[in-house]
Amino acid sequence: VTETLSDLVEASGRRYARKPALEFFGAVTTYAQLRKAIDRVAHGLRRLGVKRGDRVALILPNCPQHVIGFYAVLRLGAVVVEHNPLYTTRELRHQFEDHGARFAIVWDKVYDTVADFPHDLQLDAIVSVDVTRALPLTKRIALRLPLPKARATRARLTARPSARRVLAWEQVAGDRPISSRVARPGIDDVAVLQYTSGTTGSPKGAMLTHRNLRANAMQGRAWVPGLREGAETFYGVLPLFHAYGMTLCLTFAMSIGAKLVLFPTFDADLVAQAARTSPPTFLPAVPPIYDQLTRTASRGSLDLGSVRFAISGAMSLPPSTIARWEEASGGLLVEGYGMTETSPITLGNPMGPTRRPGTVGVPFPSTDIRIADPADPTADLPPGEAGELLVRGPQVFSGYWRRPAETREILLEGGWLRTGDIATVSDDGFVTIVDRLKELIITGGFNVSPSEVEETLLAHPDVAEAAVVALPRAQGGESVAAAVVLRPGAAPTADGIRDFCRAHLAAYKIPRRVVFVEELPRSLIGKVLRREVRERILASGR
Ligand code: ATP
Ligand code: MG
Repeated sequence: VTETLSDLVEASGRRYARKPALEFFGAVTTYAQLRKAIDRVAHGLRRLGVKRGDRVALILPNCPQHVIGFYAVLRLGAVVVEHNPLYTTRELRHQFEDHGARFAIVWDKVYDTVADFPHDLQLDAIVSVDVTRALPLTKRIALRLPLPKARATRARLTARPSARRVLAWEQVAGDRPISSRVARPGIDDVAVLQYTSGTTGSPKGAMLTHRNLRANAMQGRAWVPGLREGAETFYGVLPLFHAYGMTLCLTFAMSIGAKLVLFPTFDADLVAQAARTSPPTFLPAVPPIYDQLTRTASRGSLDLGSVRFAISGAMSLPPSTIARWEEASGGLLVEGYGMTETSPITLGNPMGPTRRPGTVGVPFPSTDIRIADPADPTADLPPGEAGELLVRGPQVFSGYWRRPAETREILLEGGWLRTGDIATVSDDGFVTIVDRLKELIITGGFNVSPSEVEETLLAHPDVAEAAVVALPRAQGGESVAAAVVLRPGAAPTADGIRDFCRAHLAAYKIPRRVVFVEELPRSLIGKVLRREVRERILASGR
């Protein structure tokens, strides 16, 4: 295989030239237009000084410029570094100190977060993007993005910026196409530096090569039989700056000539609006999004019947979410599993009646798995036992950016990657994710599985959501604690909840503390942030 991600999008640019590639608030970009725009921006970036191997930061919501900038950077053999545009200056600064990008393509609304960098982080150039520029005026007015207010009003291009040059996107995009003589990336070049979600520690930059990302898009294709090349409509409600959205929305869609409808943020009303003219056929999302969409559909303002493929990942998929979605849409909701380090997908349920709810399915094509002893990951556990899931395949990354020690810990001899997740495998090969290794609670010498306690809490009629974490104990060791979101109108006591647990769980598993919260802290993609859960429980006093 020699085809890089840039080659794939170029091929689609030719093969599907007149078909829609992107749609953003009704404004359509065809594949031919997309290819032309990529070539022009690649030229503009090259003139700014971007070279092979340089890191280029993208700090953008989902928008056409995000897609164009992504592929323009790749065309030059440079490395895309994705960022959450809602990060603060401090969070972004940490990432820039880590990856050392000298170029940034930034949403104008958050321009200040980068312009406020200290002098020692001075960039060579900032390209500022007005995402509404290409839209008709009425659409511009209708476009409301979720933004911390203070930052929205302060956005400007005139501040003393921490960059030598500041340009508007149009200045970079306007000139002429890149010469075909400019060297293309190699298949084993790093394409994207993708930061992990930071659920268990600080985010780490995973180096994903063209080979890794291309492999995952191709594996995805094999996973979804019956996809019609050049005729699907993908909904990009997941952020492209996260591995899940990057592959399952962006690179997958672009490699099969699909139309990708871009949403700057997930909003069920925006989805309903877009669905009237461009009904979705392929929808990768996370459980909270499926729940919201079914609620919107039940009010009659959204028809989900067009969705042929609904895929859930990134966190476990509750059976109740599946039931509601399948009832509302008439189609299947199918779960997969992956992580940033694997581009990201490694396992998936069959797209059909043999899928098995509660499991994450079977290994992707050319992907091998093992269940190993977490204390010695070179040793396999007997079939049926719960242990650490190890995976191997062409989508497995080559390591963390400038973190050789962490890379050695996770990437073993023979290409096996430690997922850090505890799993079991059924006789016929279906994998169930049980917990994260790092989230197991060790109390009085016993291991407590947070997911088992959470399931018990969720069985309580008053409990809507629950997160179980370890609290450090003064006398050493850990104790079990739970944050619980109640159903509207319910008013049980913490002791009442603990009594309920007592009927279902061994004594050492019962949460010592139960704290009621309005909502669980979640990342932008919807994962429960357990570190914050722990802080909230601690802050709530005794
Ligand atoms: P960090 O590595 O920085 O702590 P993170 O692991 O949450 O953060 P990601 O790479 O976004 O960052 O997430 C991968 C993890 O998400 C997996 O290791 C697994 O724990 C979880 N995950 C993904 N898919 C599923 C799924 N279908 N069911 C349960 N957990 C899942
Ligand atoms: Mg991880």
